[in-house]
Amino acid sequence: MPIKGLTNEQAAMVQHIKLLKQQAGSHSPSLFTIKEQLPDLKMNIDACFLSNPYATDLFLRYFKNELLGDDLLIRDMLEFYPSQNNVIASSLANFLKVPADMLFIGNGAIEIIQAVIHNFTTEKIIVNIPTFSSYYEFVQPGVSIVFNKLKKENDYKLDVNDLLQLVNYEKPDTVVLINPNNPNGGYITKAEIAELLEGLKNVRTVLLDESFIHFAFENEAMELMSYADMVMKYPNVVTIKSMSKDFGIAGIRAGYAIMHPSRAKQLLENGFLWNSNGLAEYFFKLYVRDQFQKEYEVERKRYIRDTQEYFKNLSAIEGLKRYPSQANFALIELKTGITADDFAFGLLVKSGVYTRTCSDKIGLEGEFVRLASRSHDENEEIIKAIKEAL
Ligand SMILES: *Cc1c(COP(=O)(O)O)cnc(C)c1O
Repeated sequence: MPIKGLTNEQAAMVQHIKLLKQQAGSHSPSLFTIKEQLPDLKMNIDACFLSNPYATDLFLRYFKNELLGDDLLIRDMLEFYPSQNNVIASSLANFLKVPADMLFIGNGAIEIIQAVIHNFTTEKIIVNIPTFSSYYEFVQPGVSIVFNKLKKENDYKLDVNDLLQLVNYEKPDTVVLINPNNPNGGYITKAEIAELLEGLKNVRTVLLDESFIHFAFENEAMELMSYADMVMKYPNVVTIKSMSKDFGIAGIRAGYAIMHPSRAKQLLENGFLWNSNGLAEYFFKLYVRDQFQKEYEVERKRYIRDTQEYFKNLSAIEGLKRYPSQANFALIELKTGITADDFAFGLLVKSGVYTRTCSDKIGLEGEFVRLASRSHDENEEIIKAIKEAL
């Protein structure tokens, strides 16, 4: 069943995109691939990629004022090596209130996930599903993967006792916690994290991915949540943080991890010397500046408010269920009989709104689409397009 109001031509385009999707595997075909193959397609809004557009604007203002105007700075950035991993770590340490030797800088969080899993996971890994697929795709041959299936009747929220019971039974050497989780945005409260880490303290490695934590809040002031102090208390925890989503700078490739000094040392001795780049280094230096932080906080809270309004409007649409989320995206379940692929690609072709079909995500039962929150005006257009489609 296609979405409402598709022409025959548009229906053929939907079929074409379905083919591209099959070729792309577990990550969506990129906008570039789709545009290249379907030049007639008009893409207005990318509600697939999960970034704060206001933060990108903020970064771009600094980038233009401080870098683009200065040929010498740009030349240096291109001509010279960036700082070494541990030098960038030192510049972040104060700001994050952790010792520099516990910091590891990654060329995107993805690089850290790979490094950590390849180096510290040798037997068995427990991953909550649905999840960000890299966590099980990157495991080495011979490592067994155990899925903790989050329950649909629990809105895919992690149940602390369920996970701890499974861990007791399976005795893995690695457990993955993503907070808030991708693709559903399910949130583990600070109190639950404390309970989990206590219960997991005998597991060799606990990966805590906080790539979306800037969008979560537990009080009305929307104070920034942080679990860095947990790593100081539990030496088996590795906190992983991508900067791609909250700062809207995925192209720069910047992420960091906090881990026991012996682990950071082991990774640094195995490569990762100049794994950063000049632009990422510029970003990290900007990130710790007071003025930038002040301005970022304004944009972060503005974006959270817009996202909350968007969520409310999504919930009011008939024919879908919106799942609870503390991230900057929401999982919706389609209840009208349409498949996730037909919905997502139909919406793209008809309204130019690109959303993430979750038809390839393991651990979801039903037809699910993930919708990113964009700017206030774009969110309104997304809502309008969905109402027309269903
Ligand atoms: C996007 C994402 C990452 C990877 O981020 P990069 O820094 O762009 O490599 C890691 N973890 C989760 C949960 C993500 O959604």
